[in-house]
Amino acid sequence: MTQLSPLKLDRSQFELLDQNDSLAPMRDKFSLEEGLIYLDGNSLGVLPKATADHVSQVIKHQWGVDLIRSWNSHHWMQKPTQLGHKVGRLIGADVGQTIVCDTTSVNIFKLAAAAIKMRPDRSKLITETGNFATDLYLLQGLAKLLGDHIEVISLPRDEVLQAVDEDTALVLLTHVHFKTGSMWDMASVTQITQAQGALMMWDLSHSVGAMPIELDQINADLAVGCTYKYLNGGPGAPAFVYVAQRHLSQFEQPLTGWLGHAKPFDFVDDYQGATGIEQAMCGTPAVLGNAALEVALDLMLSADMAQVRRKSQHMGQLFIELIQQRCPWFELGSPTNPEQRGSQVSLTHPQGYAIMQALIARNIVGDFRAPNNLRFGFTPLYLRYVDLWDCVEALVDIMSTESWNQPQFLKQQAVT
Ligand SMILES: *Cc1c(COP(=O)(O)O)cnc(C)c1O
Repeated sequence: MTQLSPLKLDRSQFELLDQNDSLAPMRDKFSLEEGLIYLDGNSLGVLPKATADHVSQVIKHQWGVDLIRSWNSHHWMQKPTQLGHKVGRLIGADVGQTIVCDTTSVNIFKLAAAAIKMRPDRSKLITETGNFATDLYLLQGLAKLLGDHIEVISLPRDEVLQAVDEDTALVLLTHVHFKTGSMWDMASVTQITQAQGALMMWDLSHSVGAMPIELDQINADLAVGCTYKYLNGGPGAPAFVYVAQRHLSQFEQPLTGWLGHAKPFDFVDDYQGATGIEQAMCGTPAVLGNAALEVALDLMLSADMAQVRRKSQHMGQLFIELIQQRCPWFELGSPTNPEQRGSQVSLTHPQGYAIMQALIARNIVGDFRAPNNLRFGFTPLYLRYVDLWDCVEALVDIMSTESWNQPQFLKQQAVT
């Protein structure tokens, strides 16, 4: 990893890194307003330039003209499976194990319920305190629905693995933590979980599209993830589900809608689930969402994921170095070791919210996660090295002049 000399940090070094960056040409594939520095692609990815035309085609010609015939002629019905194959290539999943449908939240519920059915004599669902809220809430809701014999156990990160035992049905963890960017070692955690006979579910929302993931290689059981973050599928884009091939014959998810049926168009009265990953589906696919997602997935698949990860780690490293040298006001809220960090860096400060608002007012967009985290996401396909320099330059100014301390920045908005 290139280390910058503390003595001669200046913008020109970052310009040089951009000139030598083999991913730099990818930036032109994205629609980014001039002057915007976007460090929030870990929350909502940027619009690919090709998306608007493709979605508009689907609206005008497929929906607008071909109407209901499009389910066949434009393969609307096959899209969840086709896009599942594409997501599968990004997460190291061979065909037939991944499908695009519903939201990550709904998919967590389906897979957790299916896991409990696959481990009927076990009572514990284990997760991490401070996991993304929806992951916690869905396990809690499921346990409440199923009654007293199912218990959700949330523990601090360093106590999670010791708690996995012969009464554990499922462990649900988020590969890269949404606030801190801390990353679990998927292979070893999966192995430890499986050694107790429990199933492992990975939430890949904060890692898919940011680094290589090899689900089949690590013998993964179950995974879910979202496609509007690093994958740039668009706001509310459909999520994905992965179920390892070896589990599909026992896999039974509870949202037994018609499209998970073995033969949806027979319209028989009794449910019989499809034998493949299609059983993870519930109702009608989001055709327009899928259209936007397809463009984004094709774009992501055109990049070399190992290279994406290298640039992301390098950017994180440089950003941390800049902060440590120039911004004494902040604590680092992320691991310093790039091998233990996803594609984001969090800084903590008691006035984090107002500071982020002041930064956003300068068209440098990161985000804030309560109580005190300023998050900066690194998306190597469209972020430049100079953006890091300019962001830190602005932070230095905001902090040294205390320009964050103004009423318009202190007032909390609904979405942070
Ligand atoms: C973003 C994110 C989600 C999002 O779930 P939705 O159902 O799309 O709202 C879920 N889990 C994690 C870990 C996330 O980061």
